Amino acid sequence: MAILGAINPILTVDIEGGNAWRLDDYVKRGGYAALKRIMAEKMPPAQLIEEMKKSGLRGRGGAGFPTGLKWSFMPKDFKGEKYIVCNSDEGEPGTFKDRDILSFNPHSVIEGMVIAAYAVGAVRGYNYIHGEIWEVYKRFEEALDEARAAGFVGKNILGSGFDFELFAHHGYGAYICGEESALLESIEGKKGQPRFKPPFPASVGLYGKPTTINNTETFAAVPFALNMGPQNYLEAGKPNNGGTKLFSVSGHVNRPGNYEVPLGTPFMKLLEMAGGMRGGRKLKACIPGGSSAPVLPAEIISECTMDYDSISKAGSMLGSGAVIVMDETTCMVKALERLSFFYYEESCGQCTPCREGTNWMYKVVHRIETGLGRPEDLDLLGSVTKQIMGRTICALGDAASMPVQSFIKHFRDEFAYHIEHKKCLVPLDVQRSGSGFFKATV
Ligand code: SF4
Repeated sequence: MAILGAINPILTVDIEGGNAWRLDDYVKRGGYAALKRIMAEKMPPAQLIEEMKKSGLRGRGGAGFPTGLKWSFMPKDFKGEKYIVCNSDEGEPGTFKDRDILSFNPHSVIEGMVIAAYAVGAVRGYNYIHGEIWEVYKRFEEALDEARAAGFVGKNILGSGFDFELFAHHGYGAYICGEESALLESIEGKKGQPRFKPPFPASVGLYGKPTTINNTETFAAVPFALNMGPQNYLEAGKPNNGGTKLFSVSGHVNRPGNYEVPLGTPFMKLLEMAGGMRGGRKLKACIPGGSSAPVLPAEIISECTMDYDSISKAGSMLGSGAVIVMDETTCMVKALERLSFFYYEESCGQCTPCREGTNWMYKVVHRIETGLGRPEDLDLLGSVTKQIMGRTICALGDAASMPVQSFIKHFRDEFAYHIEHKKCLVPLDVQRSGSGFFKATV
């Protein structure tokens, strides 16, 4: 995987087996400068939260919620322990940025978490790391030992009197544990199933105490935003979309990998950075924000800039920044079948619309793909999505429905052709010339 650390030190590191992830290297690059400044100045937490608000940093995990505003929700006069949790349970198909941040720049996440803890008055933090990346978990543990030994984590941090203890927590590999309340259940040792909300974690979170949860990339961006200055950070992106963002580009491109660019960068520029379309083929479609984001056809995505507002206006979501590129050899029915199977497999089963609906959607798309589709199937799929969306405990129900709706909306002819002719609209010779990724089976 290629990595370009264009602007943000989050990824300006040596990835060729060097020691750039270690504390010494991080400090040489200006690491922990933001924390040192905050501690030396005894910056009031309210001022720190204001700086984060001004920076325009939005949550990089998917929802894009303003970070400073989220921090401000933590109750200030709560007498007991408060917690900071980092969501490193990266499991959205197409997303692989947090794994690289934790591997190649773990101290940026640690520094961001300590700063956040100081801002909200938390005494303890947990980084919940996806269960299938054991080596990343070990790397983070080592970095944490270094930070603790250097006085950046633990008791009386940098002589400030501020105490904050931080732990890594190994996840269990379930996609649903990336949902914040399921993640909290999992840390508590329970089955990783989402909680009813409200109450939200800021008031009743981990062990029933106020908790702030942010994504890995969000924490990693905090020191950078503070070092750069909130206004400069905001201006590095575009209004309401401050700073840079990592995009995990995969699919039919020449150089798949993580690319860090200012928010507002044109999609076509990002595609060019990823080496352009593989084999010089035509762009057919793109999922711009991870598998749960609605797919956009080439004519729409090619006009977009990569930021929350532009992608939302185009009818999709920037989500986690996982850009899945599909060329003209792609069978859209096969692509949707694979996505639907994923959500069917990962539903936690707590609520009926999601548990039954994801199963129904997969079965119907599967029968269309295998040449057994019926004329009424497209309307049936539309009706199932409507009975799931907004009727479930967590967002997985919506996440499973949006691909179905958007694939049929933009590529209805292709689905109808499959049903009528019991084969794919994409000519066989075109399919054969492709990579095999999402290729049709009928
Ligand atoms: Fe579980 Fe699905 Fe309900 Fe979420 S929407 S709680 S994943 S059954």
